[in-house]
Amino acid sequence: MFHQEIASERRDHLTLYGLGALVVYDFFLVGDYLISPEHFVRSLSIRLGIITPLVLVFMWLLRKPRWAPIREGSAVALCFVACCSILLLHGRADLFSIVQSEPGIVMVLLCMNVVLRIDFLYAVAGTLLCFAAETCFLVSSHVLTTANRFTIGGRVFWVSVLTLLASYSMARQQRLSWLQRLHSRVQRRLLADVNAELVNLSATDRLTGISNRYGYDIRLAQLWEAAVSRGQLFSVIMVDVDHFKLLNDSFGHPYGDRVLQRIASLLQQALRAEDDFAARIGGEEFIVLLPNSDAGSAFRVAERIRLLVQVAGSPGVRGDGPLSADESWSTVSCGTATAVASPLLDPQRVVDAADAALYRAKQAGRNCVQASSPLTHQDASHRPWAEIDSQKHP
Ligand code: GH3
Ligand code: MG
Ligand code: MG
Repeated sequence: MFHQEIASERRDHLTLYGLGALVVYDFFLVGDYLISPEHFVRSLSIRLGIITPLVLVFMWLLRKPRWAPIREGSAVALCFVACCSILLLHGRADLFSIVQSEPGIVMVLLCMNVVLRIDFLYAVAGTLLCFAAETCFLVSSHVLTTANRFTIGGRVFWVSVLTLLASYSMARQQRLSWLQRLHSRVQRRLLADVNAELVNLSATDRLTGISNRYGYDIRLAQLWEAAVSRGQLFSVIMVDVDHFKLLNDSFGHPYGDRVLQRIASLLQQALRAEDDFAARIGGEEFIVLLPNSDAGSAFRVAERIRLLVQVAGSPGVRGDGPLSADESWSTVSCGTATAVASPLLDPQRVVDAADAALYRAKQAGRNCVQASSPLTHQDASHRPWAEIDSQKHP
């Protein structure tokens, strides 16, 4: 995962610093010319004819993120080839030329282990290869004394060790900071999950498992806003269980709870469209929101709910035994209201209108549906809401 995530950053780093290193490498053509003009053509063909094209091909291949071993391995191979080219360029019979190879090798080691920041294990392999090549070069030279060999070899050795130490510490730092980033990413994700879970819990009714009033408040605002932006109709159904207090008193509170659970599940079965929404907003009161539904559809859904509860709203067994057919009393009354969603209309007015219709359903004998007349924002402003309130609380 670490290698995958740093792949493009590594590619950019290798491309930029690799090109820089190539410029430095080719810059020494000037030095080669000044030191021995007679070998300049050889120097030109090695530096510009072999190494430069190899590096450029490598850069071109790096355009796409590569598998880490291929990327780091090729970079090491290039550094090693550059090291061999330096030894080849200085492998002449005079002491001055041989001694001049040392700073070149040191620069290759610095470039590989510090500038290009080759992955540590690859850096170790590359350093060993370069050091071995330098050792062979020093041993095979007939011009150098043992003291020369020991001094030059010793310096290259310690530069190898020191640059590898730098490489190790940088690699460690890079991995640690990646781990820290990963850790904070995981923490953030966990926090977001816990938050979502908390919001879900706080918006869910413990008894019935459907949304509670808090969930309803949030959803009403969302659905209304969406309906306003599309200029759609918006319907509300208020559902209230009939004579629930009596039912509780007759069969016990736990049975009443099971009736509420049953009704909540029937409510959800009665809904069809994806955005239709049901919530328990009071003891035995439920609300259904139907975006993009006209008054006729809302009435049909309410009638479906009423029938479903009448047929299946009474759990068959109560605390002390089975319920007889004439004891199956769970029924609901419904009030519906519909409006064209508009920014000028408060959705609470549609809910109030559905509540007023529910009140009429109760007065009409319960276990029935009553609809309020469709609302628009003009209606809302012309019609005093006190009228509805007076119907509700005569
Ligand atoms: P109406 O037909 O006019 O609606 O009469 P009602 O008896 O249903 O209405 P009322 O408001 O008088 O009584 C509601 C009852 O609902 C009173 C309360 O004890 C009961 N109730 C409220 N919450 C719960 C609950 O979570 N579980 C149970 N079992 N009963 C509850
Ligand atoms: Mg009731
Ligand atoms: Mg009630």
